[in-house]
Amino acid sequence: MVGGLIRILLALAGGVAMLCGAPAQAQTGVAGRPLSVCVLPDNGAMDPARLINEPGRFDCTTAQHKLGAGDFWVISHDIGERSRGRMPLNVRFASLWQQRVTLHVLYADGTVARQSTDARGITPLIQLGAIAEMRIPPARARVVRLLWHVEGASNLRGVLVGARLSTAAQSEHANLAMSALYAGFGGLAIALIIYNLALWGALRHRFQLYYCLMVALLLAYTFSSSGALAWAWPDIANNTRLRTNFLLLGMTGTAALVFARSFFEPRVFAGWLGRYATLVSIAMSGVGLFYFCTAPFAIRWVDLAFTCSFVGLSIAVVPMLWRAWRLRSNYLWLFSIAWGAPVLTAAIRALSNLHLIPWSFWIDNSTILAMMVEAVVSSLAVAYRIKLLRDERDDAIEREVMMRRLADTDPLTGLLNRRAFLQQAIGRSGEQQLLIVDLDHFKSVNETLGHDGGDEVLRIFARMLRTSLPAGTLVARIGGEEFAILTPAEQPIEPETVLAKLRQLRMPFDVHVTASIGACRGLLVSEVDWKALYRAADSALFDAKSAGRDRVRSGLRHAA
Ligand code: GH3
Ligand code: MG
Ligand code: MG
Repeated sequence: MVGGLIRILLALAGGVAMLCGAPAQAQTGVAGRPLSVCVLPDNGAMDPARLINEPGRFDCTTAQHKLGAGDFWVISHDIGERSRGRMPLNVRFASLWQQRVTLHVLYADGTVARQSTDARGITPLIQLGAIAEMRIPPARARVVRLLWHVEGASNLRGVLVGARLSTAAQSEHANLAMSALYAGFGGLAIALIIYNLALWGALRHRFQLYYCLMVALLLAYTFSSSGALAWAWPDIANNTRLRTNFLLLGMTGTAALVFARSFFEPRVFAGWLGRYATLVSIAMSGVGLFYFCTAPFAIRWVDLAFTCSFVGLSIAVVPMLWRAWRLRSNYLWLFSIAWGAPVLTAAIRALSNLHLIPWSFWIDNSTILAMMVEAVVSSLAVAYRIKLLRDERDDAIEREVMMRRLADTDPLTGLLNRRAFLQQAIGRSGEQQLLIVDLDHFKSVNETLGHDGGDEVLRIFARMLRTSLPAGTLVARIGGEEFAILTPAEQPIEPETVLAKLRQLRMPFDVHVTASIGACRGLLVSEVDWKALYRAADSALFDAKSAGRDRVRSGLRHAA
């Protein structure tokens, strides 16, 4: 176990090193040159020493999967190369469901070398990318051809596929390239999980957790399907690793759909689509689990069921995106891109599983690349969603500010209304100066100019107050043609200047408008203070009116 982990770490380090500057011609998991092979079903009484010299007995034309499950002999075409001590040859082939593999190598001098796997199957041979690699024992004579005995093959995709002959250097390059790919993906996935968990801590949206779950399962699936699991746990049978792959892939599919569902607006999944999505979600994990439990007995059927559940997922995406488009979902485009790649690969995989297109290393590994695109674009979708949440919040704040301003403002003059004035005035510390300004004979102003003209007079007067009084002065319209002005007593306003400015204002039809002012000073800490202060200012105003209007009088409570 520890040895396996060290091996993984070394491979990852090598991969990172390669990403940072190793030659660009380094090959991928597909190393070396392809080896064509022919097969022969095993009748149980065949002698490998004779078979390896009789390639003519093998079937080179029938598609392998058509031969059904069982034991097989597989022979390569002629090689004619030496496996040297300094540069040995390797034979690489895909990991498939099989119990045991024995490789026979025929050399030009007639000798045959033989090596066989144990009950774990090809686990000890697994390289990154889930490619089995067997070393061809070095010898003086050239290698003529290879013969495999494959026992317990399910033969769903073939008996022995993707066979290639590579030098040790090519194998190393392939492993490094795969390490780079997986290290990049692993780092990306871990960073995405940590980052989105941190974001979840701040925002607490459920879709963020589903996103993390999806990426974590994808990471686990990648760990298993890349073959790294075989390194970390060398005692695991390769077939058990394959079963684990299916279980984790099913669970990843479920998590991806659950994430999509929690991410889109609820109306997208309303009605039958919601029920269908639930069914597919359960089916993918359910079939994955069923695969894990029953593959040794009924692999053909559970494999088909698994393919169907993924076709079900691909089918769900079409109405999902259609609905999102029709309902003008905010997330449609990001999701179309995010899901485009995995849906395409799921469809290609399904076609490959149904033998409509041939097996390929890239199809086998496409899920990881596609889900990587999914994970990255989905993280952009999460960011976009957070932007929309922020916009919503900003709008709400702006609306609230506007509502409050409207509630505090007198609509005719734009000054504070009585309620807002009292709210801001009462509770001020220190002595205050209060001026109550009342326009003189306003009834007759109205009679002369009409009500609209009177309104205009009020507006002109209010604008003058607003623009000419020092900043921080509270100015309010507290009655029909009655205004209040409040300032700290140490920065008093000279009431006479207010009257003087009013006299100079140009009113409609040059009507002459004057006002009377009652002034008063005092504390304004409480409602009681306000009542006393107002009463004093009002009685001073009354005095100003009585004395002939267009003048100022100070209140009796305190000298103004
Ligand atoms: P005084 O000098 O004693 O204050 O006389 P006045 O006519 O100004 O006083 P009074 O309180 O008798 O009349 C106030 C008038 O102000 C009556 C009302 O029609 C008018 N008024 C009140 N609110 C408005 C308003 O919003 N627009 C207009 N155009 N007139 C208003
Ligand atoms: Mg008046
Ligand atoms: Mg009045």
